[in-house]
Amino acid sequence: MRRSLVIGNWKMHGSCEQLNTLLSGIKTGFADNAGADLVVCPAFAYLTLASDSLKGTGIAWAAQNVSEHEMGAYTGEVSAEMLADVGCSYVIVGHSERRALFAESDQQIANKVGRVLAAGMVPVLCVGETLEQRDSGSALDVVADQLAVVMAAIGSEAIDQLVLAYEPVWAIGTGRTASPEQAQEVHAFLRAKVAGINPDAAENIQILYGGSVKPDNAGELFGQPDIDGALVGGASLVADDFIAIGKVAG
Ligand code: PEP
Repeated sequence: MRRSLVIGNWKMHGSCEQLNTLLSGIKTGFADNAGADLVVCPAFAYLTLASDSLKGTGIAWAAQNVSEHEMGAYTGEVSAEMLADVGCSYVIVGHSERRALFAESDQQIANKVGRVLAAGMVPVLCVGETLEQRDSGSALDVVADQLAVVMAAIGSEAIDQLVLAYEPVWAIGTGRTASPEQAQEVHAFLRAKVAGINPDAAENIQILYGGSVKPDNAGELFGQPDIDGALVGGASLVADDFIAIGKVAG
């Protein structure tokens, strides 16, 4: 039985004051939440704030990005070893904003996934098609290719150490959600791909949906057999909404 997982991606939002308020709202709401595992992803500058605030709560914190390099003269970069050293447990890799705005290639993303695994953390590998790709009927090919590059880099054994996040680019921050059927089709396809690589991993791997998830659409999405939770952007910045999504998942 797969446990539900809800990850909040706070992107480049917040201040000490705002995030302390958000964290205390999430902690209060989580107190009676028996169901899903919750993870929040502040910007690098606030990882320590989150780590201190969440000690002993059962809510994990994670990074939104990581360097593809191991160590050395890479000004501004943060390595996987550094994140693991300060207690980070998950790292988002390959978010569509990193692919589109920072020109991250599939190969760089694969390198990052390798670094995260080597440091003992869980990569949350994001895959997803643009609207143009969906409209041209190539959504499944796109996510298959994105997954294949990573698999070629890390090997079939390692796939059970990943979390996958299907995030159609056209649904991120747009208010436009994939229908439960559209999302389920891609999730089932991804699970079948994983089964083809490592049959044992397919049953266990958590595949999250991301793209304008809100409390009022979460139920239908989580009702699909291959959707194991969500990667949430905007709604994770509102404590009540994030907790509500967690409760629906749990
Ligand atoms: C995201 O950034 O991963 C995301 C899914 O954002 P939103 O929920 O705002 O669409």
